[in-house]
Amino acid sequence: MLRNFAAGLYRECSKGVGTASFLRVRPQVATSQHGASCSSGAEEEAQDDPNFFKMVELFYDRGASLVEDRLVDTLKGPGSENEKRLKVQGILRLLKPCNHVLSINFPLLRDDGSFKMIQAYRAQHSQHRTPCKGGIRYSEDVSEDEVKALASLMTYKCAVVDVPFGGAKGGIKIDPRKFSERELEKITRRFCMELAKKGFIGPGIDVPAPDMGTGEREMSWMADTYAMTIGYQDINAHACVTGKPITQGGIHGRISATGRGVYHGVENFVNEASYMSLIGLTPGFGDKTFIVQGFGNVGLHSTRYLHRYGARCVGVMEIDGSIYNPNGIHPKELEDYKLEHGTIVGFPGAEPYEGNLLTEQCDILVPCAGEKQITADNARDIKAKIIAEGANGPTTPAADKILLEKKVLVIPDMFINAGGVTVSYFEWLKNLNHVSYGRLTFKYERDSNTHLLQSVQESLERKFGRHGSGIPITPSDQFKDRIAGASEKDIVHSGLSYTMERSARQIMRTAMKYNLGLDIRTAAYVNSIEKIFLTYHDAGLTFN
Ligand code: NAD
Repeated sequence: MLRNFAAGLYRECSKGVGTASFLRVRPQVATSQHGASCSSGAEEEAQDDPNFFKMVELFYDRGASLVEDRLVDTLKGPGSENEKRLKVQGILRLLKPCNHVLSINFPLLRDDGSFKMIQAYRAQHSQHRTPCKGGIRYSEDVSEDEVKALASLMTYKCAVVDVPFGGAKGGIKIDPRKFSERELEKITRRFCMELAKKGFIGPGIDVPAPDMGTGEREMSWMADTYAMTIGYQDINAHACVTGKPITQGGIHGRISATGRGVYHGVENFVNEASYMSLIGLTPGFGDKTFIVQGFGNVGLHSTRYLHRYGARCVGVMEIDGSIYNPNGIHPKELEDYKLEHGTIVGFPGAEPYEGNLLTEQCDILVPCAGEKQITADNARDIKAKIIAEGANGPTTPAADKILLEKKVLVIPDMFINAGGVTVSYFEWLKNLNHVSYGRLTFKYERDSNTHLLQSVQESLERKFGRHGSGIPITPSDQFKDRIAGASEKDIVHSGLSYTMERSARQIMRTAMKYNLGLDIRTAAYVNSIEKIFLTYHDAGLTFN
């Protein structure tokens, strides 16, 4: 059934309707896009190294071609069918390219007195909602193509989880391990200034966050640079980035948010008996094993939460080596070891693993490193039944098709790693409110709950009489924990869990509506496209 669906979808592309037809309007990309998304499996495998931005476009095209007819049907009011279709196609077309891409070069005076030119980028994919939002990556692989792809993914991701931002992404082409802290601070502050000069950072314009190779420290430098310079008159200046330390306006739970979101994303599917029976697994985490690629921010926290809720980590891959233990690797012990040694290699709680752990036996594979890791070359050998894309873009379109045919449940990046941007949104709101969550209500809630207990006690005593020291009313342990109201952390955790559950339900409904089977990625794109389409359409867009 799945195979038939996939074939049907690929045939649909070749009809030349909708997105396919506007591909013809853009001759510079038409042939490869159309060809790659609708070509035979063999052709796709042969061409399985699309540039990253095109890769996202291919996935987008798949969703857009599916939803176009329905969007035309939903348009009410005057206008012929053809006019409505042209309008839908126009809006679908404007969702694809990156609106702005900034390329920056500046010199760095290194600690040893030498100079090095630093190359950096920021791409803003869409401003259908503002500000734009997306991480800043420090990696030698950073390129214009990469930031454009990641920016477009951010647009679709924000829409999937109803975070009201456009998509953006930035990067500096450096290996942060090869620079001193002082040099990294200079690079980061200069980059922030360049962004500010060009209107590529600001609480209402574009709000970066951490990504590969960056964290709280870099966000703190950026917030400080912005607040001390161009934002000096702006009371909201610190909302120009998220992922800051708590002392700089950060929020509890942001560091672990993406990993926690990965856990919630898997949880929603793993507990769904219909999906588990499609892939031949039983519901629940209890008996499941998993392998993680990349033990950085996302990988570590995904491992922590999956382990906490009963799954067993049997393997971890890092850039300099892999480790394996079929009896389980303890995340805290591995975290401590990595902190002390700077690597997972040599961890005494597991054996070194030669070969490609991606294809080792496990139930859940969690790629949390770079893009294009699962390709047509290795997809057939993957044994996991679930792939949870903690990383952005880890699966190529050709690999995606193979996995679909193999009945592997791929929970896509744009949904499953959206925990980070969701909690970044909470941080941004906190910054604009200038007050932490719960601060104004803690005392009131505690007093109200105490009054409630007293009231129950008095009612019972009125009815049954007061004997001795009265009828004792003691709160349960769960109620005791909540008596003082929700802390910021409680609010972040429940807001994240709610967001992931709601989005998972929406995606599952769409997958059913379009008979998509295990093609959750296309369902997520459909949801995202429908939401962004409505934003543009309801704004009364006029084409000049
Ligand atoms: P990070 O720099 O904290 O960790 C990445 C880890 O992957 C590092 O330990 C690195 O050594 C390792 N790694 C790199 N290449 C590898 C390879 N080929 N094989 C095995 N390990 C490799 O970065 P992160 O913030 O955890 O981001 C990881 C991925 O998750 C990226 O794709 C990023 O875009 C995505 N992501 C991050 C966030 C976030 O909040 N940080 C949010 C959403 C998505």
